[in-house]
Amino acid sequence: MRALVVGGGVVGLFAAYYLRREGAEVVLVDGLEPGEASRAAAGILEFTRFKINRINAVGYPTAYLSMLSRGAARIRHMDPKWILAYARSYGRDPGEDAWEAVREMGRFSWAEYRRLAEERNDFDYAEEPLYELVDDVDKEVEELRRDPLRPKFEEAEFEGRRAVAYLEAARLSTDLAARRIREEAAPGRIAAYAEAVGDGFVVAGGRRMEADVVVVAAGWRTSRLLGLPVAPFKGYGFRVKTPRRPRAMFIDLADTGVAVVPLGGWIKATGRFDMDSTEDHSPAERVLAGARKLLGDVEVLDMAVGYRPCTPDGLPIVERLGERLVVAAGACRLGWTFGPALGRMAADLALGRVKEARFPSSRFGRRTP
Ligand SMILES: Cc1cc2nc3c(=O)[nH]c(=O)nc-3n(C[C@H](O)[C@H](O)[C@H](O)COP(=O)(O)OP(=O)(O)OC[C@H]3O[C@@H](n4cnc5c(N)ncnc54)[C@H](O)[C@@H]3O)c2cc1C
Repeated sequence: MRALVVGGGVVGLFAAYYLRREGAEVVLVDGLEPGEASRAAAGILEFTRFKINRINAVGYPTAYLSMLSRGAARIRHMDPKWILAYARSYGRDPGEDAWEAVREMGRFSWAEYRRLAEERNDFDYAEEPLYELVDDVDKEVEELRRDPLRPKFEEAEFEGRRAVAYLEAARLSTDLAARRIREEAAPGRIAAYAEAVGDGFVVAGGRRMEADVVVVAAGWRTSRLLGLPVAPFKGYGFRVKTPRRPRAMFIDLADTGVAVVPLGGWIKATGRFDMDSTEDHSPAERVLAGARKLLGDVEVLDMAVGYRPCTPDGLPIVERLGERLVVAAGACRLGWTFGPALGRMAADLALGRVKEARFPSSRFGRRTP
């Protein structure tokens, strides 16, 4: 079987990896180096901390507006169809079947990362708690007790502050993990953006290519290729060296909004959640300022830009759209956490092993062809 995978971010790479393991010949179509688009991520694997993706939860718009007014977020991308779908899905609980599918994604992805690390831990994988620093720990704990994913957590102390420790967590280097998956999937490559995709074909670089199956994993740009509601929430990731090393990974939600992940050779500091598809990356400075506040005088090794692809309800879209067309997009803030599961689901649909989609786009009112 010949498969064309459109998009070489973490989801496309894992789809290529599983297709290849089943003997498919895979060609990646992407104008960027495979893995480059997902490199900005912190690399926190938060297998049961789904609440950060619940952007349609009651109260979220108020929190986001407050971030906008403080300059902690900005909007530079307007997609009326996305906004309409958001308004429709606002406050809606996706139901127990969807929550069970999310739990399964967490279990599968965790087991796969463990397997890959046991084979060869060349991507700095380690299991450790994630500390979340919030203003009101008691309120956070109260909310977590009602969380449908039933995350395991405890109240904790982190560097002199009260915190919530998530216990079902791990971390990896996104730079190294992307390289590992790319090497194992060893896909062929067409270094161009797809201009159009359809049932069994892709047009890229002015050329039309046919395949037994096409998997579209183009992040937020899936909205442009297939008309699905996926919006870009831009963020920035710095690799830094610091005089002082924090004892574990943490997210400072109380003040800077910055996530910090100490890795073998460097520390990753990431932040911002801007609905923004522009090339103006000036808000990155604020992430760096936040990192300096938390870590002291950091030396910057490099900076990467990423676009979290979010659907209006924060759940992904993974489905078959035609005989020979599959889509996997919308991981939002959790593409690394659920990358293996999303790639596996896309591969299973592409191989015809699974017929029914767990995360169809029809929930936004769009009829699947
Ligand atoms: C600052 C930041 C921190 C993050 N931290 C974490 C974290 O700690 N843990 C976690 O789980 N997740 C994290 N994420 C989220 C994670 O990075 C995303 O969910 C993930 O990158 C989504 O993967 P994707 O492959 O769907 O899309 P992307 O990573 O956006 O990749 C999409 C790919 O498709 C390509 N493409 C687009 N259009 C076309 C086209 N027309 N033709 C061909 N190719 C195309 C792009 O060039 C790109 O390579 C973070 C994200 C950011 C920005």
